[in-house]
Amino acid sequence: MSLMRSVLLAASQNHWLRDHASHYQFVRRSVSRFMPGETLDDALVAAQMLRGKRIGTVFTHLGENISDRAEAQQVANHYLEVLERIRQKGLQTEISVKLTQLGLDLSPDLCLDHLRTIIARARKESIVWIDMEASNYVDVTLGLYRRAIGEFPNVGICLQAYLYRTKEDIAKLLPLRPSIRLVKGAYMEPPDIAFPHKVDVDANYFATGKELLRAKREKACVRVAFATHDVAMIRKLSEEALREGFSKEDFEVQMLYGIQRGEQERLASEGCTSIVLVAYGTFWYPWFVRRLAERPANLWFIARNVFAS
Ligand SMILES: Cc1cc2nc3c(=O)[nH]c(=O)nc-3n(C[C@H](O)[C@H](O)[C@H](O)COP(=O)(O)OP(=O)(O)OC[C@H]3O[C@@H](n4cnc5c(N)ncnc54)[C@H](O)[C@@H]3O)c2cc1C
Repeated sequence: MSLMRSVLLAASQNHWLRDHASHYQFVRRSVSRFMPGETLDDALVAAQMLRGKRIGTVFTHLGENISDRAEAQQVANHYLEVLERIRQKGLQTEISVKLTQLGLDLSPDLCLDHLRTIIARARKESIVWIDMEASNYVDVTLGLYRRAIGEFPNVGICLQAYLYRTKEDIAKLLPLRPSIRLVKGAYMEPPDIAFPHKVDVDANYFATGKELLRAKREKACVRVAFATHDVAMIRKLSEEALREGFSKEDFEVQMLYGIQRGEQERLASEGCTSIVLVAYGTFWYPWFVRRLAERPANLWFIARNVFAS
């Protein structure tokens, strides 16, 4: 892992920085590159704009590791409101939730109850996605996913290609006919758990991606979404998908709002399923700093905003 990435990932967990960052205009201006605004209305406007370009959306309300039951309840209620507003607007937008925001640290059963309520309210033909957080949450997240998919087929899980265990996790999930969103992985993980070198993460992403396409062809997976901005990887996997006999529409790529916009539009205009994850909310600090860690060159973008102040 590069030194800069490690420093930024450590900074993403720093409470002092989190509490102070939002006071600076240049930081807020930089954050706006990755999110349309802090409110659900901002996200809905972005979704309508993206729909005009045939790009689908997934909403996530920023927040993680909440520590009281009332807050977990508020988050669950918020997602119910989100589903209602999406329906009113006639959008096909899906949602993606972090289990630690639904009370996982307090009680896995409480968290599962909230998750159940949310999935039960979502359209049957849409997926409720579950984010994957740091490696100490993988076992419990997969455990809850298994319980949720036992009741609701329309729930999907994110898996991280930087973890050595992911290949095995996929093999164990396939009998459940999961929906899987494959990412490279955004957290700071030790080398005994995750590939320390990017080249190996990329190789594992491609190998895992190919396996998922095969699983989808054999109907062992409902949806397979490649959540990456890596254009070369997308090209290689789309060639693989063509070889497997998939239609363009069956090839799904998800990206984050504001990153690789040209590629998002290109995929949509070619008829692929192009989806943008729109994050919103006031608790953006750790999420934003993880975006910087993914591409430390983004620090130049912040620097430009300092001088634009
Ligand atoms: C829809 C979606 C959902 C995600 N959910 C999760 C999750 O639940 N758990 C989890 O651990 N991670 C999640 N991630 C983050 C993911 O793990 C990676 O950290 C992130 O996508 C960067 O890796 P990459 O695949 O884009 O490839 P990289 O090889 O890191 O990047 C490829 C290229 O994309 C561009 N790029 C990548 N990141 C940025 C950035 N931040 N700013 C500007 N350009 C950039 C650059 O041009 C870079 O060269 C999610 C990502 C997406 C798109």
